[in-house]
Amino acid sequence: MTGALLMLDFPVAERARAGMTSAPSDKTQDSDTLHRRGLMFILSSPSGAGKTTIARKLLASDEEIKLSVSVTTRPPREGEIEGVHYHFVDDAGFDRMVEEDDFYEWAHVFGHRYGTPKGHIRNALKDGQDFLFDIDWQGTQQLYQKDQQDTVSVFILPPSIDALRHRLEGRGTDSPDIIDSRMERAKAEISHWAEYDYVVINDNLEMCFAKVSEILNAERMRRTRQTGLIPFVRELTL
Ligand code: 5GP
Repeated sequence: MTGALLMLDFPVAERARAGMTSAPSDKTQDSDTLHRRGLMFILSSPSGAGKTTIARKLLASDEEIKLSVSVTTRPPREGEIEGVHYHFVDDAGFDRMVEEDDFYEWAHVFGHRYGTPKGHIRNALKDGQDFLFDIDWQGTQQLYQKDQQDTVSVFILPPSIDALRHRLEGRGTDSPDIIDSRMERAKAEISHWAEYDYVVINDNLEMCFAKVSEILNAERMRRTRQTGLIPFVRELTL
């Protein structure tokens, strides 16, 4: 895997932000049209708690956020597409990326390695592009250490432990042994709930999704992210 393959393009940010860095004109503006810094929006949960569905809904409904596609040594599952769900690499490829300092963070999960490629993330954040990260607690801690101000983390809890097992079994993708080990791992993952900014219980998918969207939108309005406010307010108070 070369760095070039991991490059991300940012048409949404360019489109949404075009011309918004200059001092405000006499047109009215609201906070949606002012320049702002993007954020790194982390969704974590034990597997089976609905995080992937929520992530997909968010990506489909919100043009300003795009997925940070992770690199993994895990083999693709049926239907998974290179570059869309993950960048799939072998151990040697992953080693090379670690050596070349290509990762923001990486961790061992279920006997495989997963990592967040740096790509263009830093510059894109400046341009107002938001990124969605579907990563575990280890990755979350590392991203916080690297860039706390741009990071917003949400932990999704299942409504009960029985519901979680039921969902894992219902996926039909894993053997009973794997399901048992995922249940153990789920309990370990849940123990990190208090390290997150927000915690949402997924007892109803639509409501959980609405809450996650509200968190994202509110975080976009944080004063410190709205870098366009300074020239805007200067104009107001001239
Ligand atoms: P799966 O193999 O089911 O797609 O993912 C297994 C776990 O790895 C999930 O908990 C997911 O959040 C986590 N994961 C996926 N990508 C990354 C990554 O880039 N970094 C870290 N730390 N965890 C990841």
